[in-house]
Amino acid sequence: MIAEVIVDISNSDVDKVFDYIATDGVMPGHRVLVPFGRQRPEGVVLKLKERPDTNHTLRAIERILDPEPLILPEFLELAEFMRKKNLRYADCFRLFMPARLRGGSIRELKRNYLFINSECDFESEYAKLSVRAVAQRALFKELSAGALRESEVLERYSAAAVKALIDKNLIIKKALRTLRVPGGMNISAEKHVLTAAQQAVADAIEKGNGTFLLHGVTGSGKTEVYMHVIEKALESGKTAIMLVPEISLTPQMLGLFRARFGDGVAILHSGLSDGERTDEWTRLRTGEAKVALGARSAIFAPLQNVGAIIVDEEHDSSYISDSNPRYFTSDIAEFRAKYNGAKLIFGSATPSVESYYKAVKGEYTLLEMPERVGNAKLPILETVDMREEIKSGNTGMFSARLIREVRSALEGHNQVMLFLNRRGYASFLRCRQCGYVPKCPDCDVSLTYHKEDNTLRCHYCGAKYRSIDVCPICGYDDLKEGKTGTEKLEEETKRLFPEARVLRMDNDTTRKRDAYVDILTKFRRREADILVGTQMIAKGHDFKDVTLVGIIDADIALYYSDYRSAERTFQLITQVAGRAGRAEKEGKVVMQTYSPNHYVYKYAKSYDYKGFFRNEIRARELTKYPPFTKIIRMLSLSESERDAGNAARGMAQQIAAMRQKGSPILRIQVMQSAIKRIRAYYRYQVVVWIESSGEEAVCPALYELGRKYSTGGVSVFAEINPQQML
Ligand code: ADP
Ligand code: ZN
Repeated sequence: MIAEVIVDISNSDVDKVFDYIATDGVMPGHRVLVPFGRQRPEGVVLKLKERPDTNHTLRAIERILDPEPLILPEFLELAEFMRKKNLRYADCFRLFMPARLRGGSIRELKRNYLFINSECDFESEYAKLSVRAVAQRALFKELSAGALRESEVLERYSAAAVKALIDKNLIIKKALRTLRVPGGMNISAEKHVLTAAQQAVADAIEKGNGTFLLHGVTGSGKTEVYMHVIEKALESGKTAIMLVPEISLTPQMLGLFRARFGDGVAILHSGLSDGERTDEWTRLRTGEAKVALGARSAIFAPLQNVGAIIVDEEHDSSYISDSNPRYFTSDIAEFRAKYNGAKLIFGSATPSVESYYKAVKGEYTLLEMPERVGNAKLPILETVDMREEIKSGNTGMFSARLIREVRSALEGHNQVMLFLNRRGYASFLRCRQCGYVPKCPDCDVSLTYHKEDNTLRCHYCGAKYRSIDVCPICGYDDLKEGKTGTEKLEEETKRLFPEARVLRMDNDTTRKRDAYVDILTKFRRREADILVGTQMIAKGHDFKDVTLVGIIDADIALYYSDYRSAERTFQLITQVAGRAGRAEKEGKVVMQTYSPNHYVYKYAKSYDYKGFFRNEIRARELTKYPPFTKIIRMLSLSESERDAGNAARGMAQQIAAMRQKGSPILRIQVMQSAIKRIRAYYRYQVVVWIESSGEEAVCPALYELGRKYSTGGVSVFAEINPQQML
């Protein structure tokens, strides 16, 4: 027998399948060690076959690493599928297995735990401990509430304290296979009886098949529906995967699932240590856990017999990996749902235009929950025209209106969230007096301001204009804005409301592991009155005392050089607004804008997703953007500017030739990227518009072209519908 093996060699372009003589017992999915030149790298057996493809002398597999194949047959097929989407085999298997499992065998999962000796009476023993043995007393007390992992205890207590308690026979150390389950809040989540709307949706999912799009407003009880669907899957002996954006994996969410599914749920997210991730992965692989809850990468949960796959907040951009290996979570979800015959549910209060379009066309079954559970109302949205503030001499970040509303919320002992969306790099130019923003005449997207050479550029066609100092519409001559990040907002907030306790949440304040959980927990415990932050505060959180949400500059997402900017703005506003008035208290949202007449505000204000969608889809059709086309960007990187440019131009010529021969290509642009150099690499790109149905006809050829041009110091990366065109 011959085994085809994917060899995991890093720093190499080798991504081929190699033939080896199969030793006894080798099966597809086995991890093996193989001789490879002078190395003995690890590999995964893809399949077995009778005879080799060439008559080279073959070497034999050296060793099988696990008793049973670790990679399920489904994942071997998935690797083939992802290969067609331009991923390398080696990268696929990296996604399929936690890092710890590569380059080693599964470790024993036993861990040392410390327990209270069940034979001792806590109260009397505690009383006997010397008051001077502070650490011993504290630890003994803490353990009375439940066992802890030794390593965790040793982070906070001295080894001497532990030893003293063990010597006194008050506590016991035991190695247990019980795994540490990542933290979650202990909430007693009572199971709700589904409302009529929830029941209708649950029934439709149970009776129906294929893919569903659940469009439910914030607070409509989607989570309860998801849990119901998962329960049904478990009842019929199946398993389930639930994906949420990383940022929504709040302790609250974890607690909810833990309360409902106990140890049957495994949690996967980027905050886990390697060891924890391996533990959780193993529990899923062995079937000990039947529900995987996690962010994007949890779509690769090694579950068998999957009955339901749920993608919550499906519009969220975190579902598209933006660095290598690049993949669309929805592609993988569709593959796995089909393979397993599972129900696939995409849910959102603001579905992506592309998903909703699929629902309209009947590719997805559309399910709707237009109202909040119980009597909770959606908050009232108000726009404040910031141009008027400028006219009346107020150039600060807060409008007079917002200041009044914050004061009144604070006086009523309620909490406030202030949201400022901010992204680094370049931004747009805007007239604060009339709201004018320069756009690309050809591409209908806003131009991006580039400070280094004072130009305005289109990130799609590369058009470049000299920047302007004076507004061509109203003549206002102070177009440049100072920095207005969250730090500045925090400062301003403290200055305006000195009596309020303010917390800030953004990339800077959440670098440390668990920092964002700490901030949210503090806010929930009412240790602060105002939470200032970026996107991070927009999603999923449920604070009952928040009555006011302020959106400091609602336009920021609107003027990204991106065809999705209106969609993103609508989604952001709706999500942020969803944070207010979640419980009995009524909520209010104040949106500050320089373009109050933009259609996005009209629809956002009345929560009219459908109206927004109709408008947006018409615009996309006219301007030929997705879903009516697909945009493929071929990014060429090199330390030599000339080589990067030549590769891009060379590829563009070839693509033009493909078009000549009838390939469904609509438009080709070659240009220097908007950011022309990142680190030492010059960046050129070819942007190719193709017909939306043309992916299979065009993309493999483009990927091939990219590989051909990835040589001599040039690397080419292909991306479909890139999230940003920088
Ligand atoms: P969504 O995910 O759609 O934003 P949630 O699932 O968070 O909404 O539900 C909003 C609130 O309604 C939560 O506090 C939840 O506990 C509550 N809830 C959900 N379903 C029910 C129900 N059937 N009966 C009572 N309360 C419910
Ligand atoms: Zn353009």
